[in-house]
Amino acid sequence: MLRKCTCCGATFDADQPWKLLCYPCWRAKKDAENGDLGALTLRSIKAELALSKAQDEIERLKGIIHREAKRWAKNAPPEPIPPDLMNSMVLLCHPDRHGNSAASNRVTAWLLQQRARQQAHERSENHQGHG
Ligand SMILES: [Zn+2]
Repeated sequence: MLRKCTCCGATFDADQPWKLLCYPCWRAKKDAENGDLGALTLRSIKAELALSKAQDEIERLKGIIHREAKRWAKNAPPEPIPPDLMNSMVLLCHPDRHGNSAASNRVTAWLLQQRARQQAHERSENHQGHG
């Protein structure tokens, strides 16, 4: 029957109704009762080793998560320019403000192209799921 260890709280399979401790806790209690400090020390060293292995595994997994997150970020589409910012950019670069310079014409044309592309993209996204 499954039971909760009264010492560490771990769930363990108790084959006898009188068993209240999981095996590691029972073993440690016996060793303590017998004054077997060597056995207790050995168990604590084993536990430290297991913990250190678990920490290494956590670091390994963190590394994988970090690498995958970077890969995802690289493949993600660029953030769209917020519409109000886009409008300000169009206004600020307008050829009327810059003596109709070639540069202001080029930048404005490019910005208008981006704005149209972005609006077309938003329209197509809004239409998804309604057909
Ligand atoms: Zn226990």
